[in-house]
Amino acid sequence: MTKKYIRLGDLLVKYGAITQDQLEQALAMQKGTGRRLGALLIEEGIIHENQLIDALTTQLGVEYVDLSKVEIPAEMARILPKNIAKKYMVVPVNATRSELFLAMTDPLNFVAVEEVTAVTRRRVVPMITTEAAAQHAIQELYGSQGANRAIEEMRFELSGQTEPLVPAAAENLVVDEEEKGTAPAIRLVNSIIERGYAERASDIHLEPGEDHMSIRIRVDGLLREVMAVPKELEGSVVSRLKIMARMDISQRNLPQDGHVNVTIRRETLDLRISTLPTVYGEKVVIRLLRKNPELISMEGIGLQGENMRRFRELINDTREGAILMVGPTGSGKTSTMYTIIEMLKDETVNLVSLEDPVEFYMDQVCQVQINERTGLTFAGALRSVLRQDPDIIAVGEIRDGETADIAMRAAITGHLVLSTIHTNSALSSMGRLLDIGVEPYVLAGALRGIISQRLLRRICPQCRESRTPTAQEREYLGLPAEGDEVFYRGAGCDACFHSGYRGRVGAFEILRVTPAFRQAVYAGDRSGIADALAETEFTPLMDNCRDLVLQGITTVDEVQRAVGR
Ligand SMILES: [Zn+2]
Repeated sequence: MTKKYIRLGDLLVKYGAITQDQLEQALAMQKGTGRRLGALLIEEGIIHENQLIDALTTQLGVEYVDLSKVEIPAEMARILPKNIAKKYMVVPVNATRSELFLAMTDPLNFVAVEEVTAVTRRRVVPMITTEAAAQHAIQELYGSQGANRAIEEMRFELSGQTEPLVPAAAENLVVDEEEKGTAPAIRLVNSIIERGYAERASDIHLEPGEDHMSIRIRVDGLLREVMAVPKELEGSVVSRLKIMARMDISQRNLPQDGHVNVTIRRETLDLRISTLPTVYGEKVVIRLLRKNPELISMEGIGLQGENMRRFRELINDTREGAILMVGPTGSGKTSTMYTIIEMLKDETVNLVSLEDPVEFYMDQVCQVQINERTGLTFAGALRSVLRQDPDIIAVGEIRDGETADIAMRAAITGHLVLSTIHTNSALSSMGRLLDIGVEPYVLAGALRGIISQRLLRRICPQCRESRTPTAQEREYLGLPAEGDEVFYRGAGCDACFHSGYRGRVGAFEILRVTPAFRQAVYAGDRSGIADALAETEFTPLMDNCRDLVLQGITTVDEVQRAVGR
C-alpha cells in the first residue's frame, strides 16, 4: 500500500474552511516558531476549533473522540511514553495487540503517527480531539506518574534511614520531571511545580497533615488537591524547596521566605517560596509568577464600556494626587495598579514602585521589594524615594498610619500616588484612612479617584449554556420580578477541568472625586461622606456585575461569592 500524505493546510483550503491567502499568511507566521499549524489557525482566530474538527472528520473520515467521556485505561501510560504524548499532543485512548487508537489534534501529522507506530509496535488508528482535551487527558493519564515513581524511589532509598534525604545542593533550576539521573526528591518537587504550571495555578500549597502531606493548587482563585506525599518523604520535599530558595534548611521553627527563578518549557518563572511551622510540620507555599503577564492591560483586567472610558479619563487627567484601588484579598487590585503603571510609564517620568512582593517585572519602572523583616518598610522606603525626585509613586499597599500619612502628603506636594487599600468599598476606605490617622484636610487635598473592584470567574466559553434565573436571583441583581433575561453557566468540560469556569474578569466601580465629596472628606464627617458618595456619578459595582451576568461572562453564583448578599 502506498501512503499518500495530505497536508492539513491544503485540506482546509480544499474544504473551504480557510482561503489560500489565509493559509499562506498562517504558514508565514508559523515559519521558525515550531507552532503547529492547527493550533496557530485557532489561536489567531482564523478558524474555530469546531470547524477544524468538522473538516477533518468529513474529509478524512477520522472519528472525533470526546476525551471527557471515555475512560482511558491506566496501562495506556505504559504503552506510549509521556514524552511522545506531550511532544505531539496525542493521547492513547485504547489498544489491542495490533492496533492503537490515538486521539490527535492533527491526525495528518504523519511524523507523529510514524513515531508512535515505531514505539508501540502497533498500527495507529488516528482519531481527532481538541487541543484542550488532549492537554487535560495527558495531564490526567501521566500527571502524577513522575511524582509517583519518584515517591517509590525515595521510599526505597529511605528504608533503614531515619533522617530526611537532603538532596545535594547542586542547582538544577530547569524544571523537568523527566530529567534522568537526578535525585528522586528533586524530580518529585519538579513534578509538583510542573503540575501547578500546567494547570495555570497561581499558588501551590504543600500542607503537612497527620499522616501525609497534601499538595493543593490554586486555579482561578480556588484551591484543589492534586497529590498526596507520604509523611516520611515530607522532610526531603521541604528541604529541596528550601535549598532552591536559599533558605536555612536546619531552621524548622521559624517562618522563612525566599525566591528562585526556574525555567519550565522555555518559560521563565519566578517562584516565591515561604515556609510556616505548623503543628504537623512546616507548611510551604509556592507562588508562581510569570514574567510577562498579558493580564496587565485595560482589556486584560476586564474593563469595558463606560467603565473603560472613566478609567482612561481618570488616568489621563491625573498628574498629581492619589488614586486608590480598594477591594478584599484576591480582588485584582494589584493587577489594576500594574495596568495603570503600564499606561503611565515612559522615559520622561521617574516612576518608582514599592511592592511586597514584586509580582511582575517591568522595564522603565524602578521596582523596590519591601522587606519588613530586614527593616525596609513601606514608610521607610517611601521617605527614601521622596528624596530621589519621583514623579509617580506606586505604594503596593497602605497598611499603617505612617505609610498613609507620607503617601497622602506626597500626593498633595505634586506627586501622583497610586496605592491599594484592603477594604470593601470606597466609603470604608475613607473611614479606614481617617481611622489610621490621616488628617482630613490632607486626605481631601490628595484624593483624585477611587477604584473599587472584585474578581469574578469567567464562564468557560467551550461549555457555556443558558438558563432561566430564579425569582431570588433576579431580585438579587436588581432586575424586575418579571422579564425574559437569560443567565448562563458552564456545564463543565475538558477545557475548564469540569469546573465550568476558565479565567477571571474584574467588576469595577470607578469614582472620580467631586468637589462635594472632597468637601465632605475635609469635614471628616462619615455620614456626610456617605451622602456625598451617593450623589457622585458612577456605575455601582453591582450594576457592572449584573451586566457581566447578562452578557454571559460570569454567573450569579460568582457575584454572590465575590460581592456578598
Ligand atoms: Zn468548560
